[in-house]
Amino acid sequence: MWQEISAQIREVTQTDFEIKHHRSVGGGSINQAYAVSSGDHAYFVKLNAASGLLMFEAEARGLVQMAKTRTIKVPQPICWGITESTAYLVLEWLDFGYGNHAAWEMMGHNLAAMHRVTSDRGFGWDIENIIGSTPQPNPWTEDWFTFFRDHRLGHQFRLARVRGGHFPQENELMDALPKLLAGHDPQPSLLHGDLWSGNAAVTQLQEPVILDPATYFGDRETDLAMTELFGSFPKEFYRAYNAAWPLSNGYTLRKTLYNLYHVLNHFNQFGSGYEGQANRMITQLVRDC
Ligand code: ADP
Repeated sequence: MWQEISAQIREVTQTDFEIKHHRSVGGGSINQAYAVSSGDHAYFVKLNAASGLLMFEAEARGLVQMAKTRTIKVPQPICWGITESTAYLVLEWLDFGYGNHAAWEMMGHNLAAMHRVTSDRGFGWDIENIIGSTPQPNPWTEDWFTFFRDHRLGHQFRLARVRGGHFPQENELMDALPKLLAGHDPQPSLLHGDLWSGNAAVTQLQEPVILDPATYFGDRETDLAMTELFGSFPKEFYRAYNAAWPLSNGYTLRKTLYNLYHVLNHFNQFGSGYEGQANRMITQLVRDC
């Protein structure tokens, strides 16, 4: 397997790269991750079952789309494919370190710049991608309300029903959606899509990086909301983001709504531990709208 991956890297990079060492690196919840090296050059490799190829392809295409904006650093995808019934994705190796205040400020500034990149096709993306291990549909849709209702919240509720989830106020929440999003008319922004604290890091050269995306064009507030869901980013990040592009009124309420998508996704992936959290968020939203 490593020989074939070496050959692919050689072909794409036009070098004589050969994997001489590989070591497992922790952190990833979905895939097996490895550092592979020839001795003087390294790459980051993710492995999964062959069925993971579409997920890797969508990740690579998301990284390419974000990289093209030249607004924020992402790991460069090198190649992906299947070898010996294993799907692989090879990315540029990045040495992460401890980010200083200036680096997190730059993260906020750069993310706002990426969010300025818009689409004239509306909300969605060219392909379906994967969030965690859940398929994420991205059909192009003219308005945000319809997109979020049908392809984000509605999608996760449908999956949750199949998993036996019990959300007594689901219908009330869906009925309250027009009110919760009333007067909110965001532009389609290029999003990371899965921006929890594990997917943002700073290199040893103090460059802010975002990784492991579930890219699409949507409301920028969804990216910001997720930065506060499982821990939060340093305050310099928020200060710089708001200085570059202030968030609008009503964000605090929408934050809970947008993060409900991710909590339901966690329920769908990891089970009942997240049901209570989702129900508390639903109750709050129904009460506060
Ligand atoms: P998964 O898709 O399995 O969740 P991630 O892409 O989140 O995997 O990567 C897991 C961990 O590996 C990250 O938290 C990070 O510490 C490290 N990592 C990710 N990408 C790179 C890279 N390009 N170079 C070096 N380390 C990386």
